[in-house]
Amino acid sequence: MKTAFVTGSSRGIGRAIALRLAKSGAAVWFHGIKESAELDSAVAEAGENARKCVGDLSTVESVKQLIARLPEKIDILVLNASVQIYTYIEQFDPAEFDREMAVNVRSAFQLLEAVLPGMKERRFGRIIAVSSINQTNPAARLAVYSATKSALANVCRITAKEYAPYGITANVILPGVIVTDRNREALKNQAFADKLKAEIPAHRFGEPEECAALAAFLAGEDASYITGAEIPVSGGWQL
Ligand code: NAP
Repeated sequence: MKTAFVTGSSRGIGRAIALRLAKSGAAVWFHGIKESAELDSAVAEAGENARKCVGDLSTVESVKQLIARLPEKIDILVLNASVQIYTYIEQFDPAEFDREMAVNVRSAFQLLEAVLPGMKERRFGRIIAVSSINQTNPAARLAVYSATKSALANVCRITAKEYAPYGITANVILPGVIVTDRNREALKNQAFADKLKAEIPAHRFGEPEECAALAAFLAGEDASYITGAEIPVSGGWQL
């Protein structure tokens, strides 16, 4: 049985990915920054092979503590949790920059450092990063966020290159607008939502399950020759 760890899987896209992996037969570790009813209900929905863990990804120490609680054997690592702060470049805040960079990029290095040696030994591994369409088409007020997503994608590309000989793949999912807690409030503004939908070739927003379907495919045996790929799940918004 494969073991998966999905960061930020108490809610949203991470939750859908973790549930889908559990459904496909993996033992899955769900994760949130904190204990919550959402985290418990996701674990309960996933069934007997699901476990939970909590921890802030913004400090080196808390990530170390989180890693210490995870099983040694992780076959599928999904780097999903992120911080997204809207700000203009002239309002640059070094503390916010550090937090966003730490959660979105530095924690990825720490988690990769923890899981790659075991994957290498077992000659199987799946790294899936959840980036954003902002990686290639950055929106105004998201300079730091977009920079972190580009950085994360480059970490994945390099992981793909370095670890391909060991049966380890690393791929990136680029969601467009997917309805989650992160944007639910903003999307309630009908005029804003309509304007956004008009820009998206599919004329609709995406669902977390549409990202999960791709993650499940990339995590499986059928995707063993796909590595270093960056795949939008966006209804064509990046075009
Ligand atoms: P979300 O609904 O806001 O959920 C965020 C998840 O991350 C929660 O599980 C949360 O835990 C956890 N989290 C937040 N800050 C954390 C921290 N400092 N340390 C550890 N965990 C933390 O997010 P989402 O919309 O599903 O987004 C998931 C991923 O997709 C993100 O990487 C995001 O950038 C990307 N994305 C989303 C969209 C979209 O339209 N939704 C578009 C493009 C890209 P708690 O529940 O404990 O708070």
